[in-house]
Amino acid sequence: MDGTQIMTLGLGLEAPWILKDQHLDTSVSPHRLDLYVEAERGSLYPCPECGKACPAHDFADKTWRHLNFFQHHCYLHARVPRTKCPEHGVKRIEVPWARSGSDFTLLFEQAAMSLVKEMPVLAVSRQLEISDTRLWRIVHHYVGRMLGQLDLSKVEAVGLDETASRRGHRYVTVFLDMQRKQEPVIFAIPGHGKATIEAFSAFVAEHGGDPDNVVEVVCDMSQAFLSGVAEHLPGAEVTIDWFHIVQTFTKALDEVRKRERRQQAHPKALRWAVLKNTEAGNLTANQITALQELVSDRSAMADAWIIKEKLRWIQQAPTPRGARWRITNYLRVMREAVTDQPLLKPMAKALNTLERHAEQVVRRWLSGLTNARLEGMNGLFQAARSRARGYRNEANFIAMIYLIGSPVGRMLDQAKST
Ligand SMILES: [Zn+2]
Repeated sequence: MDGTQIMTLGLGLEAPWILKDQHLDTSVSPHRLDLYVEAERGSLYPCPECGKACPAHDFADKTWRHLNFFQHHCYLHARVPRTKCPEHGVKRIEVPWARSGSDFTLLFEQAAMSLVKEMPVLAVSRQLEISDTRLWRIVHHYVGRMLGQLDLSKVEAVGLDETASRRGHRYVTVFLDMQRKQEPVIFAIPGHGKATIEAFSAFVAEHGGDPDNVVEVVCDMSQAFLSGVAEHLPGAEVTIDWFHIVQTFTKALDEVRKRERRQQAHPKALRWAVLKNTEAGNLTANQITALQELVSDRSAMADAWIIKEKLRWIQQAPTPRGARWRITNYLRVMREAVTDQPLLKPMAKALNTLERHAEQVVRRWLSGLTNARLEGMNGLFQAARSRARGYRNEANFIAMIYLIGSPVGRMLDQAKST
């Protein structure tokens, strides 16, 4: 077996393609290996439309970057014919080693996609010595292609939340199929308004699903999300995620702290103590002292803290009926505590929010849905974003969200092995 035969096997070349020539240039840096592939003279090629063996009409010279040959950059050159089919006329054929329109061989692209799943794109582009712009083009092609094959015919329960895409309040909204055990992300789109739900609904319909079959949605209390769901996923019951209720009260509590601090100074340890989960047992001695002071003096902050802590009483309700009853009575008692207390206005607002969404909060006792998984995925997306030191644009961030959290990554692996 000579060198040419080895290279032919390595490239996976099949008739009519043969390796005609090869040239290693060590006078340039990095060194490069050029491989020249040709079809035997007089060969017939399949028409791209019907597959009928046709003669070549003319040829064009093309070059593809291939996997490195050891440390040398490797390029594949071929004269690619256009066939002349009696039925379909003159058409450029597809070569077996590259997809049309790409300057890279399929093997090169597969290697690039495997690396992109493991490390930041900028690092991969340095490793492969191609520009990150060209690498992103490959990523977008494969993510888009795999997304096109996504089957959403069984989607019935959906979780959605926003994730920060860059500094300055830019967001991407991510949608999860709550019944998918692995890689639950099925859609991601820039923005966090009503239009994101409309786009999701259309996406489901384009992928074999029916937006009317979505019967459960879990999200936060954003009015944009809620009205979007009402309009574009009309069959869905909404569960307001418990985490977001607690978050609303925690923010209100912080607001009370700031207001009151303008009037009287709090010990510094207090801020962290009230923001931490007091049941977690992770308070310092200073924080515990500060908390004891807080409870013994009748500050607005103390009242606000109790209002927030007593949410747990609702959370522990055994049944939806019990939860409904507890919310009603919680609101009645806590409203009395905030009446005529200007410093507690933020808590009064939080109570109104809870009342407005009471039925959707109770829904969690029926649907069993939480956004905990989405919160976890969000951590992965943000870790990737910070490893990449941000993304140049939202489309790139979204492509990474799909690679990390959706079935796209696995579909790529499977496509490779066939
Ligand atoms: Zn044809």
